[in-house]
Amino acid sequence: MNKIIYLDAAASSLKPSSVIDAEADFLRHGYANSGRGVCARAAAVDNMVFEARARTARFIGAAPHQVVFTSGTTDGMNRVCAMLRDIKNPVVAVSDLDHHSARLPWMARIAQGGGKIVVMELDKNYDIDISKVPRADVMVITAMSNVLGVAQNVGAIVRAARAKNPNVITVVDAAQYVVHNPVEVAEWDCDFMCFSAHKIGADTGLGVMYIKNPDMFMPDKFGGGMVDHVFADGTFTTLGAPEKFEAGTLPLTQIAGMVPAIDELEKSRPDLNLIKYLYDELSRTARVRVITRRDASLLTFVVNGMNALDFGILMGARGVCLRVGKMCATWIHDALGVAGTIRISVGAWNTMDEVREVAEMIKDMVK
Ligand code: PLP
Repeated sequence: MNKIIYLDAAASSLKPSSVIDAEADFLRHGYANSGRGVCARAAAVDNMVFEARARTARFIGAAPHQVVFTSGTTDGMNRVCAMLRDIKNPVVAVSDLDHHSARLPWMARIAQGGGKIVVMELDKNYDIDISKVPRADVMVITAMSNVLGVAQNVGAIVRAARAKNPNVITVVDAAQYVVHNPVEVAEWDCDFMCFSAHKIGADTGLGVMYIKNPDMFMPDKFGGGMVDHVFADGTFTTLGAPEKFEAGTLPLTQIAGMVPAIDELEKSRPDLNLIKYLYDELSRTARVRVITRRDASLLTFVVNGMNALDFGILMGARGVCLRVGKMCATWIHDALGVAGTIRISVGAWNTMDEVREVAEMIKDMVK
């Protein structure tokens, strides 16, 4: 088999053996649906979901009933937008750090139903300028851009937003942030926070939507598993949180991988010395313009005179997986004045030998 150097952790993480084993074990020996059965096997699955939710809650500093399983960050961000349906003509503050998943649901809704997008200012370091946070009904906060890899001061941004409007709803996209930083949602004091399981070493098809006050919101999805009682007069009552937000069968196999994924991530976060090494090497390489900071969680750059896509294809042919283009983040590319970028991101599996090899490959390619 040809050797692959996988430097695209920010797109999706490779899976630790413990995650693969937990999912295989569940599929081979423990499979049943959750929340429905009365046999011992079904009770064990209920327990597995309970444990996964409790571990996830601990991971972000939440209570288990505030943790809703979704299918990913994109799903969560769309669902938050749907759940805030009662806010008519919302003023929605966003920033150029946003991934398309964070802003497009609001753009689509505003195009149909009215409202306004206000773009928050970034400072000279491309961080959200806390001193200029606008008054908004909803504020979308990207806790770490997938292009720049810098942690935002989410708690301070939330406080500044509340100072302008005490009723603002704050929605945090933590898809990249949770990989590199411990999170205490209670300290951020945000209303919603979303991330994807596949970026932290668990599987695709699973995500988390934290809701600070789940009792305040009506569900956006309806069906089995969330109903308490259906009455003959056409009305129904729902279960409490989190079940009322989890209509339908949960992604159980993926949930089986959640506890080992979080355990592994908390034991060994990606080694950002690899990024610093690449930063040092590439920032003194002719034709390479490094865009990210030395202390960022990833390295993004452009090569003068070379299209990012061509660069990615050439590296791919050498067995190196990295990300090129706009990375679902058009706005920051527009703000930087570049058509596309090249991104290297590392996971716990990457080694210094790999990044040394890749640095030499890049120097050779651009000379
Ligand atoms: N937000 C950020 C910052 C991301 O990096 C990503 C994925 O790259 C997403 C949202 C969307 O995540 P998903 O595709 O898992 O829904």
